[in-house]
Amino acid sequence: MAAFVQAQAESAVAQANSWLAAAGVDASIPAPPEQFGLYAGAVVAGYGLYRAGNALFSGRDELLIPLPVEASEDWKPTQFLKDAAPQDPLNANVIRTYDKFTHAVLGSGAVPVCSPADVREAVAKARVAQRQWAQTNFEERREVLRYMQDYITAHQREICVIASRDTGKTLVDGAFGEVLVTCEKISWTLQHGEQALRTEYRKTGMIMSHKTARVEYIPLGVMGAIIPWNYPFHNLFGQIISAIFAGNAIVVKASEYATWSSLAYLRIVHTILDHFGIDRNLVQIVTGFGPTGAALVESGVDKLVFIGSPGVGKLVMKAASNNLTPVVLELGGKDAAIICEDCDFDQAVNLALRGTFQNCGQNCIGLERLIVHEGVYDKMVATLAPKVQALVQGCPADGDVDCGAMTMGVASAQKIEELVQRAVAQGARCLAGGMMHQGQQGVAGYMTPTLLVDVTPDMDIAQHEVFGPVMTVMKARDDADAVRIANSVEYGLGSSVFSRNYARAERIANQLTTGMCNINDFGVNYLCQALPFGGVNISGFDRFAGVEGLRGCCLMRSITSDRFPGVRTNIPPPLQYPVKAAGFAFCESLVNLFYADSLWTKVKAAFNLATL
Ligand code: NAD
Repeated sequence: MAAFVQAQAESAVAQANSWLAAAGVDASIPAPPEQFGLYAGAVVAGYGLYRAGNALFSGRDELLIPLPVEASEDWKPTQFLKDAAPQDPLNANVIRTYDKFTHAVLGSGAVPVCSPADVREAVAKARVAQRQWAQTNFEERREVLRYMQDYITAHQREICVIASRDTGKTLVDGAFGEVLVTCEKISWTLQHGEQALRTEYRKTGMIMSHKTARVEYIPLGVMGAIIPWNYPFHNLFGQIISAIFAGNAIVVKASEYATWSSLAYLRIVHTILDHFGIDRNLVQIVTGFGPTGAALVESGVDKLVFIGSPGVGKLVMKAASNNLTPVVLELGGKDAAIICEDCDFDQAVNLALRGTFQNCGQNCIGLERLIVHEGVYDKMVATLAPKVQALVQGCPADGDVDCGAMTMGVASAQKIEELVQRAVAQGARCLAGGMMHQGQQGVAGYMTPTLLVDVTPDMDIAQHEVFGPVMTVMKARDDADAVRIANSVEYGLGSSVFSRNYARAERIANQLTTGMCNINDFGVNYLCQALPFGGVNISGFDRFAGVEGLRGCCLMRSITSDRFPGVRTNIPPPLQYPVKAAGFAFCESLVNLFYADSLWTKVKAAFNLATL
């Protein structure tokens, strides 16, 4: 396949060169850097001027975006890491990049760590790029997003292969969590983004009826985002789409576990920006570990979105307080699905499996607890056990597998195995999996899909975010018991309720302390991009996505003006400086005129105002 794509790319380049030569332009298209040998063509019609290398020409219908050779499915690695981890024990200035299932080295194997000075420089360059970008109108911004959408839909597989190599996820997990949600976000932004950010006129109230009042949504400037590794494509593009549509630049700190893929995805954005002649510095990535993220928090960005764990979220908020940088915190979750005895049983089983094992459980809104009504508990356990036992775990590149690798490898697999073992010691039954195992490279970094039943709220596994392929089943006596169990954790991100009785499901949902709830479903609130996304308690605060998220990328400026030209606010004589003795009585009458309940009081107030 790589050979085919390469041949296609070469012929496209040759054709481009001949067009350029015919137009009398220097036809040399720069050779791609070593690691980006695979060209992918995005089929985009009718975009007029087109840029290849440094030359502008027109009439082309393809954009060549260099992707890493590892994006092809038949890539054959030759080098493997023995001690797979992003940290290089011999060099603190680089991040090691490797395939999370095979531990094959990706790209050059080492990406430089950005220093605080690098981060500040990136933000300064972004600020320059933003000033020009802020002059664009919504149609021009939509044009860029349409191009992005065209590219993504034409290259879903490559995008998923890249995510799969860097995180160990399966292609289907990538299709759901990377591509589908990103396409929906672009689509929503194209259709509704302008309306969300259009100047909005508000009611002035009686006392100010001679004025107009409006809110303008003005770009903030440079946004910062610190993102985790679980969805490297979507976490990156999701932030970019909203930030740039609102007229901002953005600097993203990619996760050290997903550096290679993030940089590959950045090339897509940069090539598209190049195509439109937009300064690349509008969208930048800074690479590194925690200190690079900390430097971004203190870099002077105008707002920061942090997506990650509650522990690091607290550090970010603390550091942001130094400059009073506004922060959005999207943190971990311990989502529960309450499954009532009157649910659509087969539907609930399938949704519970997808909700738990999607992305090998490394999903902030993954189902971490199934709270099953006792009337259907035994049947549910008996149905789930063979299904979880039958899940196939393996290398995503080897074909159809249900679960891939733990992205953080042994560090997280060990933690999860301990939680499972402790739960068993505390009385839970493990009906599938339960232990980590050695993958292809003989390193214990893979967690077997696990089914743990008879779990109770006092067990550690019922309280801590697992972030792995563990289905945890708990029994509830009735609805009140189910709600009590669901609310017995510190987290409050998402939740689900399964019941055929909608009134009952709504009643349960209303009692859950979470930012989001899906009735008879899992995670779909995120596919409804009109909705704000976020949690409560230690799952964080504020929202991204939806009208609220997009407006959150803006300075909301309130403006008043005169409703009728020539009719202006004048300070009445008793209130002009020096204030007269009747000043207070005048104010009192004003309040009575507008807010007193009795008509007689209002009449007296009007008389006073006219005579004072
Ligand atoms: P993490 O908190 O360890 O790291 C997140 C990011 O913060 C990384 O880029 C990391 O380098 C950076 N970082 C580390 N220390 C920092 C510091 N002191 N200052 C600034 N940045 C710093 O999380 P993770 O392991 O990458 O991701 C898993 C967590 O993310 C889980 O808890 C998961 O639930 C959560 N998550 C939440 C959402 C959401 O939308 N609520 C989405 C995805 C993941």
